[in-house]
Amino acid sequence: MLLEGKVWTFDGKPPRDAAVRVDGERVVAVGAVEELRARYPAARRVRCEWITPGLHDAHVHPLQWGLALEALDLRGVDDPDRVARLVARRAAALPPGRWILGGGYVFDGYPDRRRLDEAAPDHPVFLRSRDLHAAWANLRALQRAGVDRRTPDPKGGRILRDGSGEPTGYLLERAADLVAQALPPPGKDQLLAGLADLARRGFVAVHAMGEPPEATAWIRELAAAQALPLRVAWTLPAARPGAWAPGSSPGGLHVFGVKFFADGALTSRTAWMLEPYPEGGRGLPLDDPREADEAVAEVLRRGLVPVWHAIGTRAVREVLNLIDRLEARGLPARRRFRIEHVQHVSDDDLPRLAGLALSVQPQHAEDDRAALGRLHPAQRRAAYRWGEFAALPGARLLLGSDAPVAEPDPPRALRLAQRPPLAGARGLDLEAALAAYVHTPAAVLGWTSEDAPWGRVEAGAYAALTLWERGRPVARVWRGGLEALG
Ligand SMILES: [Zn+2]
Repeated sequence: MLLEGKVWTFDGKPPRDAAVRVDGERVVAVGAVEELRARYPAARRVRCEWITPGLHDAHVHPLQWGLALEALDLRGVDDPDRVARLVARRAAALPPGRWILGGGYVFDGYPDRRRLDEAAPDHPVFLRSRDLHAAWANLRALQRAGVDRRTPDPKGGRILRDGSGEPTGYLLERAADLVAQALPPPGKDQLLAGLADLARRGFVAVHAMGEPPEATAWIRELAAAQALPLRVAWTLPAARPGAWAPGSSPGGLHVFGVKFFADGALTSRTAWMLEPYPEGGRGLPLDDPREADEAVAEVLRRGLVPVWHAIGTRAVREVLNLIDRLEARGLPARRRFRIEHVQHVSDDDLPRLAGLALSVQPQHAEDDRAALGRLHPAQRRAAYRWGEFAALPGARLLLGSDAPVAEPDPPRALRLAQRPPLAGARGLDLEAALAAYVHTPAAVLGWTSEDAPWGRVEAGAYAALTLWERGRPVARVWRGGLEALG
């Protein structure tokens, strides 16, 4: 096929009107439209506004996304009563005893389980907050999980309790795992469903962030069966990394990193902050970076990338301190580390981010906008500084959605990356925003220097491309074919 339009090559030259000749799974020529038409007169011509290297979502949870596609969608709901009504409607349609799952709500407080008990007395109900750092469960769900007044708080989590010590049904951080462990196990089907949905949105690759340990076996099976609908860069969970070896397989799987969590999230007040929250507390460390030197040194020695979730100002600072300590030992931490979210950065720490791979999710800024002023006014100016990151020497910016926390929505992510919804926040220019979506995510994985490079449109490149009209992906080139997007 011969693709014609404005081509963003990311080979050091500016975007230009050109044609791209794709033969099988390779780009074989990029050049002037008339010249390539003359050279390939029989080629099928496809015209579109932009042609770019294929889209990456640099931070997704594909298994959770697959599950979210099946579950009650509570995004945008901030009223527990409305959630209870939606649960009651689902209960009426499901046989008693079946789990009602859902997620996406943001509440101001921590409601107790009574409203859910009334809405679904015969069904266990388990609902996750939008940021995935808290959950709301009813009595049936707690009973199935064996959680009662005698259950101690797990490490890194809290079971909220009433005056008499009974669990209220609201669970923070790793306390939610107590109920999650009692759920019918998800499987390969949900993982594949999540990946297939991302492919249908125009992505050619995703960076999967810290799926549960058993999912590593499923993704290996899917790759071995040549069933992956896009290329998958995979991180192993820090707690149970399992088989450690990094590397790419012909089925499109690249195991590259180990995922750590320095802290929680803002809307659950578990992001680890330098300043206290208005109601007290400063959030909490999960995988505490102050104690992670040996674990992370081992990750580096095994050739894997330490990938650190860090949202609060304190979490970001402690990850930077960890990097400095490892560098002082002669380990290549600055070149290899990745920090995910980097949502709140104090002025003192901003210059320390130079040279790092920084993975940001512009849609979170819009979703958090209202919460920011209320939950942590002291940190508002420290929030969502990716426009400033881009100006740091050597910083490598990556764009993602964090699905299911936000919907994978390329036009929205691109728009917000350029115009952050927070007063005073600096955005990226279009080329920098696109680079963070289609080029740099391939570069940080080393894919731009493979035999058939990704992340560039040039002769010899692998033909994983996204075609656009008016800022919206409309088709992708994948495995030698052109797929129109729904
Ligand atoms: Zn995430």
